[in-house]
Amino acid sequence: MNTKITLISKIIFVTLLACLPLSLENCSTDTVEFAQFAFNGATMGTTYHIIITGRPIDSKERSAIATSVDSVLLDFNRILSTYEDQSEISRFNRNESIHPIPASQKLLQVIKAGLDFCKASDGAFDITVAPIVNFFGFGFEPGENRFPTVDEIDSWLQLTGCDKLEVGDSVLTKSDPRITIDLSAIAKGDGADYVANFLMDKGHKNIFVEIGGEIVTHGHNKEGELWKIGIDRPTFGGAPGADLQHIIQLTDMAIASSGDYRNYREVEGKRISHTIDPRTGSPINHNLASVSIIANTCLLADGISTSVMVMGREEGLIWLENRDDVDGLLITREPDGSFKEYMTSGFKEYIFD
Ligand code: ADP
Ligand code: MG
Repeated sequence: MNTKITLISKIIFVTLLACLPLSLENCSTDTVEFAQFAFNGATMGTTYHIIITGRPIDSKERSAIATSVDSVLLDFNRILSTYEDQSEISRFNRNESIHPIPASQKLLQVIKAGLDFCKASDGAFDITVAPIVNFFGFGFEPGENRFPTVDEIDSWLQLTGCDKLEVGDSVLTKSDPRITIDLSAIAKGDGADYVANFLMDKGHKNIFVEIGGEIVTHGHNKEGELWKIGIDRPTFGGAPGADLQHIIQLTDMAIASSGDYRNYREVEGKRISHTIDPRTGSPINHNLASVSIIANTCLLADGISTSVMVMGREEGLIWLENRDDVDGLLITREPDGSFKEYMTSGFKEYIFD
């Protein structure tokens, strides 16, 4: 098989040069029939890659599409990025009022989704986890190079939890002035949905939108096939795409991943993950190395993948099997250094390799 691989962050997409006879009417076995326009850029402290296939797009339209996607992402970040000082979320984080604070519909929608994940996961997922994420150096403030004291952990536990925020029709209310929010666990997924919906509204039917490894697919790739996506083996320090666990194929679905092998720090000689267990106030400490979730929306896939990453393999797999809206692949790191995989029964249907 002649396989062309393009590297994209922690997930990569793969296009196969062979064309499946049954895929699309104008797709023949050895010629590429669809035009492709691929472009990329930077957003949310990471990169994005977008592919549009179908009719040929001339250079004037190409540059109009790329410019409009950039401005859609800028609008998104102006509301939701905790890394932008003047974003709506950053201003909300600094606002120490316990009275209702007016908020945009977009901010309310994403915070509501975050609180729903929190409730559904019994607090494993928690957007109020920001002070703990910041302490460990994975947030919007510089971190410490030490482990917290028991008192510090206790004080965070007073400041976290989905019951600490209330979402109204046009306002948000903090129950404690010190509550701050971290949306990093769902912003990339929601951003990928946001851009994909923008492109679909403009009439593009065959699209691949990836932001920092979270992916939305619609229609077909330029060979007229389903979109092919590579899932990395979770090796510490491994280059994206160097070693694949699986290739999956998707269309009209999204995939998001969480892992312990790309974003970690060493503190007092110990490796700590950027995923925090809000129930203990500490970075996760188990052998689940990566989770990939397939769902109808990338927001859902992103929130669920972080939730499962917090829960660990056993609790996470049972929780996933009990949901009918997502499928997942979990990879554990074994004591001898090998990897073991576990998946929901529905995930197998997406595996291509
Ligand atoms: P990635 O950024 O690798 O895609 P995730 O989607 O799992 O990974 O998001 C991890 C980020 O989410 C962390 O860097 C942190 O900012 C935030 N976070 C950490 N723990 C939690 C948690 N339990 N609930 C919600 N957000 C979290
Ligand atoms: Mg996530």
